[in-house]
Amino acid sequence: MKVPLLDLKAQYAAIRGEVDAAIARVVESQHFILGPEVEALEKEVAQYSQCAHAVGLSSGTDAILVGLMALGVGPGDEVVTSPHTFIATVSCIVRLGARPVFVDVDPASFNLDARLLERALTLRTKAIMPVHLFGQLADMEAITAISQRHRVPVIEDAAQAVGSEWRGRRAGAWGALGCLSFFPSKNLGAFGDAGAVVTNDAELARSVKLLRAQGQEPKYFSKILGGNFRIDAIQAAVLRAKLVHLDAWTAARQRNAARYRKWFAAAGFDVSQVKPTREHPLVLPPEPAHVRHIYNQFSIRSIERDALKQHLQELGIGTEIYYPQPMHLQECFASLGFKRGDFPEAEAAAAQSLAIPIYPELEEAQQRAVVEAIAAFHRRRR
Ligand SMILES: *Cc1c(COP(=O)(O)O)cnc(C)c1O
Repeated sequence: MKVPLLDLKAQYAAIRGEVDAAIARVVESQHFILGPEVEALEKEVAQYSQCAHAVGLSSGTDAILVGLMALGVGPGDEVVTSPHTFIATVSCIVRLGARPVFVDVDPASFNLDARLLERALTLRTKAIMPVHLFGQLADMEAITAISQRHRVPVIEDAAQAVGSEWRGRRAGAWGALGCLSFFPSKNLGAFGDAGAVVTNDAELARSVKLLRAQGQEPKYFSKILGGNFRIDAIQAAVLRAKLVHLDAWTAARQRNAARYRKWFAAAGFDVSQVKPTREHPLVLPPEPAHVRHIYNQFSIRSIERDALKQHLQELGIGTEIYYPQPMHLQECFASLGFKRGDFPEAEAAAAQSLAIPIYPELEEAQQRAVVEAIAAFHRRRR
């Protein structure tokens, strides 16, 4: 039985009529840049994210870049973030001439460990950028308290976390700004690249709008140095058609996560550990407290991760490593002078994590096959 990591064709098949009609609407109008579809999406995404404003952008990466620009991040500044993330979080900081300062991750959540945050702040800290990895918010109460004490704004990398909550408050609604990605494999995926910034700050929303359209106001009169960071109207229409299904998809992902917990426990694995050991070679992501986890990924940990990945691949089960190389060890940041051992939890996560299928359309029999294959692998190795 083939089990892909993600099956976007299954999702499209279920909503084909609605999405095709939305695209046709834009094509008929020939209004491709900004306009009513983009404005409507922005209203709906703002509301969904419990924010006053949303600004549609060309990608999640550009949302982070423009968000940092709106906060005035530049040469000589420091931005505190997680070393266990996708490259875009950190590359945007470096592209603006600022320095990334890493705080190691909490091994239970893979998110920036708020207990280590305060000692990373300096007089040069311009922003704190937690990453809500895999669809689970970082400890935003602790992070917000520290940011307020030091008067440093928070910019949330919420690329994987649209609609995720910490104690009822959504991703993007905690910080000065939240950056969303609508990359196709995210929970709300466009038919190409797209993203958004959400915020409760009208001034910041205005800045982001200026920055995405060459800093022009009015047209051909540029107030500030911007770029072309606009979302396409066709992508906005596709996203609007999908947004009405997002809660049902999230519920299906949560059901799948609950099944994994139940079925691995039934297969004799103690899944309550945080880190894998010889005795407990397999660990599931802990049941989150205070969180509406939207499960963009369900990332297990195994002490024999690479062999397990190979085994599953041979059986036709799709997996992925998020992420195999922590940020402080990326070649492109070599000049920053970090070395192996600097962030041990991020390094352990990079060596042991393996994302397994969690997508909403995953069928029960497919999921059983995944559990059986993983259980058999670890039993044989014992
Ligand atoms: C996907 C992602 C991004 C970048 O989003 P794009 O839309 O692909 O540019 C940034 N940060 C994280 C954590 C992501 O997962």
